[in-house]
Order: sequence, then C-alpha cells, then structure tokens
Amino acid sequence: MLKQVYEPLWGLLFPETCPRCGGPTSTGFCTPCRHDFPRNIRACRYCGIGPLPSGAKVCAQHNPAWQTDQILAPLLFAWPLERYIYALKFGGQRALGRALGQILAESAAPQRCNIDAIVSVPLHPRRLLQRGYNQALEIARSVSAQLHIPILRAGIQRCKATPPQSRLTAAQRQQNIAGAFAVRRDLSGRRVAIIDDVITTGATVNALANAIRAAGATRVEAWAVARTPLPPV
Ligand SMILES: [Zn+2]
Ligand SMILES: [Zn+2]
Repeated sequence: MLKQVYEPLWGLLFPETCPRCGGPTSTGFCTPCRHDFPRNIRACRYCGIGPLPSGAKVCAQHNPAWQTDQILAPLLFAWPLERYIYALKFGGQRALGRALGQILAESAAPQRCNIDAIVSVPLHPRRLLQRGYNQALEIARSVSAQLHIPILRAGIQRCKATPPQSRLTAAQRQQNIAGAFAVRRDLSGRRVAIIDDVITTGATVNALANAIRAAGATRVEAWAVARTPLPPV
C-alpha cells in the first residue's frame, strides 16, 4: 500500500530491485540476499582457497605455478550464488554482471591502491558472437565504475577458441588454455587486475597473467566474484 502511494518517491529512493528477492535495493543484490551467499573466508592470498587457520595468510600447499601476485575471490561458487553466475554466463541475464560486480568491487576496494588497470578475461570472437556479451567484461564494467579504475581492452585478445573448460580435468584445462591469449600492447610498469566470474583451477587466469606480464606489467592480481571450494582433480 505504502509502496503504491509513494511509487514515484519509492522509485527515486530504490531505483532497482534485487535480482534474487525482488525487493528494493540500490546496490544490486540487497543486503539480506548478499548475506545468503557463501563467503570464501580466510582464503590464501596466492591461490584463493580457504579457510586457512586463523592468523595464517598463505596456505602450505598452494600450487607454486601461479602467475598472479594475489587472488581475490570473496564468495564460494556454491548455492545460492552459482545460479546467478550461470544465468549471467549462459542464461542471457546480462544485468547480473552489474550486481555481481558490485559485490566484487566492495571486496576489492582495499586493493584499490595496488592496481591501476583492469583487464577482463576476453572471450574468443566466435564465443562473443554466440553469447552477445562477455560476462567477465560486464562484471569488470561494474568494478571499474565503482573503484574508478580504467578497463584496458585494445590489443588484448583470446586468439584460440577453446572448448568449455568446465568439461575438462585440471591438467586438460592447463593444456587447453596455454597460449590462448595475446597481448599486443605495452603494459610496462602497469599494475593490472584480471577480472573473471569464477576461478576454478586458475588455468585461464594464469595463462592471461603470463601474457600480461610478458607485455611488461609489474603486478598482476586476479579478482573474481567466486572461487570453487576445492580444485577439481
Ligand atoms: Zn534480495
Ligand atoms: Zn594457497
């Protein structure tokens, strides 16, 4: 009733609705729904896997082949978050990129001073044509707008069309993605955050981080909305 009477005012105060509960919000997912998403607590700063024993910053067994200086993934790729990631990726729900990006931006804010450029994981042009948009770029746009970090796109490409990573084992993923990215621009001295939706084995992020480092970047972090709880064997 109150909502009907004050509809115009309501619209000004809460210009959008939460993608999960439909309630009023101005921050993508509303606060109660955000609290329902599983947090990736006390995660290792190098591989993003948690939870570590309290006080520890780094795990003992993370794969030393990581090409990134730091991984940030505030949530776990699990219910009820996963359906929104799938909907953004495969269900055409492009607007979810903004809502998920808002959660990532909030967690990445303390890292802001380490980073001066954002690179979203590029899609191969054929995949981009099929999907109509790049889900990682949709998340990156939201993070960029909130943290005021420019997105670099020109000269950064996925030059190898790879089969979907989700059907492969960790070793196959690594082989599948090696050399998939080309960076044809000078990134000397740049401090870059790679943005993706989910980090699973890290094969994609590492392959892109490698190419970014080869172009001269001095720091490469990877920021993703979610981390798979444990790397699949
Ligand atoms: Zn909600
Ligand atoms: Zn680790």
